[in-house]
Amino acid sequence: MKHLIKTISLLLLLCGAVNVQAALRVVTTTEDLAAIAREIGGPAIEVESLTPSTRDPHFAEAKPSMIRKVYRADLLILIGADMEIGWLPPLLQSARNSRVQGGNSGFLDISTEIPLLGKMSGPVSRAMGDVHAKGNPHYWLDPRNGILMARAIAARLSELDHEHSADYQTRLASFEERLKQKIVDWQTSLAPLKGQAVIAYHTSFIYLADAFNFTIADEVEPKPGISPGASHLNHLVSRIKREKIGILIMEPYYEQRSSRYLNEQTDIQIAVLPQSVGARPDVKNYFDLFDRIVAILSEAQSKLKTGAQ
Ligand SMILES: [Zn+2]
Repeated sequence: MKHLIKTISLLLLLCGAVNVQAALRVVTTTEDLAAIAREIGGPAIEVESLTPSTRDPHFAEAKPSMIRKVYRADLLILIGADMEIGWLPPLLQSARNSRVQGGNSGFLDISTEIPLLGKMSGPVSRAMGDVHAKGNPHYWLDPRNGILMARAIAARLSELDHEHSADYQTRLASFEERLKQKIVDWQTSLAPLKGQAVIAYHTSFIYLADAFNFTIADEVEPKPGISPGASHLNHLVSRIKREKIGILIMEPYYEQRSSRYLNEQTDIQIAVLPQSVGARPDVKNYFDLFDRIVAILSEAQSKLKTGAQ
C-alpha cells in the first residue's frame, strides 16, 4: 500500500511537471509577430516580443532581459530581410541557445515566406543609406501578408508541437477567415484613396500602398535611415505643390519637425499611422492595427475632399 501511494504521488508529480512545461515558449522580434503568434498559438504557447512598438524596429539594444528570453525560447520568430541585422546576431550569440540558431527548427525567418517588394538589383553600398538589399522588410503592413505570416507560424508550431497541431490549424482557419473579411471592408473604406500619390517619411509603407492601391511619390528621408536636410525638404515642397500631393504618412517614432515644415509650406496633411501592434494603446492586435490605419487615412482623405485642411 505504501508503495502504491508512493508510485501514485510520483506519477502525479510527473504529470504536474509535464503540464507545467506544456506551453511552447515563443519569442518574436516584433509585436506584430507576437500578435499573430498569439492568434495561432492560443493557450498552447507563451509569447513575448523582444522589442516594443514604440521604437524604431531597425534598432534595439541587446539587454540582459532580452538575452534571457532568447535563452529560454523554443522558437524564435523574426521579420528577417535584414530588419534585425543590427541587433539580433549578437543577441543570438550571447544567448547560446542552439534550438533557435539559424537553420534549426526553432528559428523561423518569416521573410522567406513572403514575396518581398523593393529588392535591390546591382551592388549595394552604405552610401545608399540604410537600404534593405534583400527586399523591403516592412511587409506586415499589407494585411494580405498577415495571412502568409500566420500560415508560416502555424506550420512551424505544428512541427514543433504535434500534440496541438489540430488546434493550430483550427485557429489559423479562423484567423484567415476573419482577416479576409476585414480586408474587403478596409479596401472598401480606402477606395477613395485609390490611384492617389502620398509622401511617406521612410520606405516602410510600400506594402500598405500596394494593398490599398495608392502610390508613394517620395520620402521625407532622402535615403532610408537618413534625416532630410534643407535641400531635400525644398525639393519636396516643390514636388508636393506641383503634383498637388495631399497626405504625408509617417510612423509615430520619427521626428516631426520636417513634416511640420512641409505642412506649413504646402498645407499637406500629416497622418501619423501606427506602424505596428502596440504603437498606440488602442492597437492591441493585428486587426486593430489596420482598423486604426484605415480610420486615420480615411479621415485625412475626407478632409482633402471637402478642402477642410
Ligand atoms: Zn526600413
